[in-house]
Amino acid sequence: MPDSASPLPSLDALLHMPAAEALIARFGRTATVAGLRAELAACRAARAFPTLPVAILDAAADALARRFAASQRPVFNLTGTVLHTNLGRAPLPPVAAAAAAEALASATTLEFDLATGQRGHRDEHVARLLREITGAEAATVVNNNAAAVLLVLNTLALGREVPVSRGELIEIGGAFRIPEIMSRAGAVLREVGTTNRTHPHDFRAAIGSETALLMRVHQANYAIAGFTAAVPPAELAAIAHAAGLPMVEDLGSGSLVDLAAWGLPHEPTPQESLAAGADLVSFSGDKLLGGPQAGLIVGHADLIKQINSNPLKRALRLDKARLAALEQVLLLYLDPDRLAQELPTLRLLTRPPAAARATAERVVESLCALWPDRAIAVEPCRSQIGSGALPIDLLPSYAVTIGGKALEALSAWLRGLPRPVIGRIAEGRLWLDCRCLEPADEAAFIAQLRGPADSR
Ligand SMILES: *Cc1c(COP(=O)(O)O)cnc(C)c1O
Repeated sequence: MPDSASPLPSLDALLHMPAAEALIARFGRTATVAGLRAELAACRAARAFPTLPVAILDAAADALARRFAASQRPVFNLTGTVLHTNLGRAPLPPVAAAAAAEALASATTLEFDLATGQRGHRDEHVARLLREITGAEAATVVNNNAAAVLLVLNTLALGREVPVSRGELIEIGGAFRIPEIMSRAGAVLREVGTTNRTHPHDFRAAIGSETALLMRVHQANYAIAGFTAAVPPAELAAIAHAAGLPMVEDLGSGSLVDLAAWGLPHEPTPQESLAAGADLVSFSGDKLLGGPQAGLIVGHADLIKQINSNPLKRALRLDKARLAALEQVLLLYLDPDRLAQELPTLRLLTRPPAAARATAERVVESLCALWPDRAIAVEPCRSQIGSGALPIDLLPSYAVTIGGKALEALSAWLRGLPRPVIGRIAEGRLWLDCRCLEPADEAAFIAQLRGPADSR
């Protein structure tokens, strides 16, 4: 309807302009009409009457572009935390990402056995590899490690007691707290020992007729130093087995290979836990393992069977895309010689400081040309592994640091780029740790910095 009370163009007139045709082609007629209506209403409400219809079309185009823009987007993680939970943790190797995309787009053998033409088991695609890599009798997978811990406790300890050292009653980010998971799983937490010291006799004294299992939790993202004592896994397993109980270990990150082989700090492996006598071990798929979000459980076949028959397993199971990605990532572990090249997580963690430095130097050159008035430098820094793995150990790296005023505004500008750049502000500078800016991404990174000069 033309609006006779105002000098605004009618909706109909706007829709007949070529710019509107372009919007319809891109966003569809319904959204375009709604967008133009909203823009006309806003002009009326503000009593702002643009003289040119094109101004209304431009405003509508901006609003439509914002409405249709994906909210989850790839970013440059220059925070210095390699496995950043808020930034999606492990980046997948291209083979795994491609397998996930292919699985999503087509029918697959998810639960179908090609040899027999009968129904198959979805977990078997990855369970076979987990058995081979860890030497475990059996394996299963769920949504994440929090789900794995929940499922193990609910299956083996429903309505019964689980002694845990007071030094291991951890909270990790995102509201995962051992005492709370324990109670939601229907198990009764029995606190043992003290925060800094827990002894074998503390566990022996806690075992009673109601005890379901003994549990060990990896101290993710914190460390206790000084006058400390903990019961080593082998000893805890021996105490459990003497009482006819299983010993369960939540490894948190866990690594399927000994990271010390690449000069990284050692992180406990499920293989070591099993060798020490753990009956079940759970760990994450998207921490040091370098795969998609998943919770992996390996251990005794009879216990895994009980876990798989728990009705909650169905509620926590993995989808075909993540199973496809995880299978590809586990396949990379069959060739340890090429792992540090093919698995992005390991490649980033083992990246030589000199390589990060060379990247930082190239980035600085472009930044100095962009912002001649700012203090921009290459400085040594320390990267974190992240996701609770190895909280104390830091990896030497190099960062681009940017000084000067309005660092918050500068960092907001970097977050506003087509592929947002996420750094961190510390000691009066903005730090862009170049460990995770790999040569393949460098050109794209530098090219997009050339935004409109007035916004810098
Ligand atoms: C990270 C972690 C978890 C949770 O794992 P998600 O895969 O994030 O669910 C549980 N326990 C420990 C010790 C952890 O470090």
